[in-house]
This record gives sequence, C-alpha cells and structure tokens, in this order.
Amino acid sequence: MKRVVIIGGGLAGVSAGHHLLEYEPVVLEKESAIGGLCRSFTQDGFTFDCTGHLIHLKNQYTKDLIARLLPNAFDAHERLAAIYSKSTVTPYPFQANTYGLPPEVIKECVVGFVESMHVNGDGSPKNFHDWVLRTFGQGIAKHFMLPYNEKFWKQDLRNITSDWVSWSIPKPTLEEVVNGALGLTNKGMGYNPKFIYPKNGGIDCLPQALARPVKKVYTNQTVEYIDPKKKYVRLASGLEEPYDFLISTLPLPLAYRMLKDTPDDLKFDAQRLNAISILNINIGIDRPHVSDQHWIYFPEDQYVFSRVGFPMNFSKSVAPEGTSSIYIEITHPANESPNVEEAYERSIQDLQKCGLLHPGDRILTRHVLDIKYAYVVFDDHRQAHVQSLIDYLESRDIYTAGRYGRWEYFSMEDSILSGKKAAEAVTSSMSSVKAYV
Ligand SMILES: Cc1cc2nc3c(=O)[nH]c(=O)nc-3n(C[C@H](O)[C@H](O)[C@H](O)COP(=O)(O)OP(=O)(O)OC[C@H]3O[C@@H](n4cnc5c(N)ncnc54)[C@H](O)[C@@H]3O)c2cc1C
Repeated sequence: MKRVVIIGGGLAGVSAGHHLLEYEPVVLEKESAIGGLCRSFTQDGFTFDCTGHLIHLKNQYTKDLIARLLPNAFDAHERLAAIYSKSTVTPYPFQANTYGLPPEVIKECVVGFVESMHVNGDGSPKNFHDWVLRTFGQGIAKHFMLPYNEKFWKQDLRNITSDWVSWSIPKPTLEEVVNGALGLTNKGMGYNPKFIYPKNGGIDCLPQALARPVKKVYTNQTVEYIDPKKKYVRLASGLEEPYDFLISTLPLPLAYRMLKDTPDDLKFDAQRLNAISILNINIGIDRPHVSDQHWIYFPEDQYVFSRVGFPMNFSKSVAPEGTSSIYIEITHPANESPNVEEAYERSIQDLQKCGLLHPGDRILTRHVLDIKYAYVVFDDHRQAHVQSLIDYLESRDIYTAGRYGRWEYFSMEDSILSGKKAAEAVTSSMSSVKAYV
C-alpha cells in the first residue's frame, strides 16, 4: 500500500487523515496533543480555547459530517457582540449601530456614509484603506474602521489588499446606517450572526472526533526536514518517515525552510509572507456575569487589547459556577516577542478601566498562549506569490492544506474542507499511478 504522511494534527491534518482512512495515513503532530488552533486547555476548572472558536457552517457536507461525528453535541447561539469606544458600548457591527455614541460622531458617520455613496471611485479600491473610505465614508472610517484595523494589523492599511474583506466585513445599506443611528438595532448582519458551540467542554471535541478513526496519529513528533526527491521526512528525534504522498499543513514559510533543494527565489518569497500573531491571555474571575456579551471589540489605543471575549457565555460547562472567564487578544507582528508580564498587567488595568473588572475581583487562573501564525496578511506580496509557492510544492508531490498551508483566511469549516480536498488530490493521484502501472 502507498504510504501517506500528513504533517500537522490541526483540523486540516486530521480532516485529511479522516478522508484517507483506507490508506492508514501517518499524522505527525509536534505538540503533545492534536488540535492545533482548535486545541482546548482545562485548568483550575476553566476551559479555554485558543481565544474564541465558534463554529459557523455553510456547507452541507460539513454540516452532515459534524452531525454524524458529534450528534447533539452543540448548542446554537445568536451572536452577542459589541464595540466599546468613547466610553460607550454599541452593538456590532459599528457601521450599522452608532446610536448611543456622541451626537457629533453619529452625524459624521451618517453624513460620511451618504457622501461615500455619491463618490465615483476611480476603478476598484487600490488597498484596504481605500476600500474602507469608499465603502463606509469618512466618519465610520475615522471612528472605527481605520483605528480598529490599524491596531489589529499593526501596519499601514495601504499595504493590505482588499480582496479578503468582501465576505468578512458587513456592508450596510443606507437604511441600516440610518436605523442604527436612530437606535433601531440592526441584528444578524455579517457572516457570523449565529454559531454553534459544544455543550460540554471546549472546541477540541471537533479535531478529536475527526481523528478518532485515524489509527496512526503521533504527537510530540516535530518534522524538521523534507526530502522531496528521496521522499521522506526527518523528525527532531532523528527518525525518518518515508512517504509516497505528503500532505503538509505547515505554514508555508516553515515548509519552505524544511524543504531540501528549493530554488532560492521561492525560499525568499516564502519567507516574505507576512502574518500577524496574537498574544492570547485567558483568565478566570471569582465573580459571575462580568458581561452578557460573547465578545467586545476595542478600537481605541488606550486599551491594549483589540478584542476580549467571554467563554462562559458560550457554554456553562467551561467555567465553574459563580465565576466568569475572559479571553484577551493582543495582536503583534510575527517577528516580535511580546513581554507577557507587561501585557498581562496592562490587560488587567485596562479591563478595570472599562469596567469589565472591578477592583475587588480575584483572578482564579491565568493561561497564556502566543499564537505565532494567527492571521495571514493579505498584501501585494501574498497576492503575487502564494499560488506559485503552492504549485511548486505540488510539483514535488507535496499537497498543502489548511489555513497556513494554503495561506488563507480559513475558518474551521474551510480548514476541514481543505484537508478533505488534499485527501482527494492524493486519492486521485494514486488512481492515476495505478492506471499507469
Ligand atoms: C485567533 C483565532 C481565532 C479563530 N476563531 C475562529 C472561529 O471562531 N471560527 C472558525 O471557524 N475559525 C476560527 N479560526 C480559524 C481556525 O482556527 C483555523 O481555520 C483552523 O484551526 C486551522 O487549522 P489548520 O489545521 O489549518 O492549522 P493549525 O491548527 O495551525 O494546525 C497545524 C498543525 O501543525 C502542527 N505543526 C506545526 N509545525 C509542525 C512540525 N514542524 N511538525 C509537526 N507538526 C507541526 C501544529 O502544532 C498544528 O497542530 C480562528 C483562528 C485564529 C488564529
């Protein structure tokens, strides 16, 4: 039987394994548990995911797959998300819910939006900054879109393309902007107005369920070297694992660092792919109901975090009774290491400043993760080079899958489907090899 090796036991990797069961694929995961970004951590009675991980399913195949693997395991929720700015909480999305903000701000947002409708832009937007101004106008750009996104992406938004925003950022109609300014709340906008979340425990039930029938899943196995000519991978332990077909869910820059005999220009292009990291600080608090929201965005620089969320509002099972849990997201450039202690102290102060924490609140637990590859930056370099980087790997029989293997803005559902697609590519290559033989 042909040997299939899969690098990475995140959702894409275990999904690829799940869809190749008859070939008994080997899944190699460097951490002590599978799951990747869909791992969950339980500590002092609290369960934390890697920040918030909520399931939005659009595709019938994944809906059926998850229902079959995990019947009755999820509760459905209607999103409760908000923005905290100018000492005011307004419902998400900002652009369609400005009521409650200072009247001058509301006026600028509505007038700017109307003006933007009458400006005929020259061709399609040149970059994300341009797209924001054209789509929302000066007021919404100034009071939310630009400060929030500059804080999040840690760079000039003129360096970011606008090809990823069409599905992820809701664009209101004039009626919705006016309704929102008058206090007629616009609900259900955007790609995630509803979601499902496990009734019991964290999101890691999903990768666990996909991996269950895959017999050869090995943790604590770090791949360090890929030889596409002799077709083997070498592990940090020194062991070598031969393959006929390789599926890589490694971030593309990492895959290129490990790949033997690669043209220098491709190596160079891969290292210049840009990502944003997230320092994720999770805390448990000895007071219930610190918020009734699922998550809150913070566009202002006076707050160190760009978003905080409340796992106890996803499921009662993830925090002990009488307590609350908070996840904090602080973005940073991928080539910088954050000072965790400073970030933690500052986060607690800022949570007190906006009133989410009270002076007497006790922190019962703290769990910190620094997610190096969190968000792929959609810049001109990515647009120009990502496909050739993927194509070259495929020309060497290495199929890429997942959010970082494809260098995309993938949801969990997308990553599951991407693993399935890589599995199908392997299966079809096998049959063409068989036909040829
Ligand atoms: C902050 C954040 C919040 C998110 N929230 C949501 C959400 O609410 N809803 C949603 O649908 N999606 C969400 N996502 C997206 C979702 O997490 C991803 O689409 C999905 O988890 C990606 O799975 P993956 O397998 O492609 O990558 P990963 O999960 O990164 O898996 C890659 C695996 O490869 C392993 N690996 C790396 N190097 C090696 C090596 N050298 N050897 C062996 N193994 C290695 C890693 O340890 C990891 O397990 C979020 C993402 C982020 C960053």
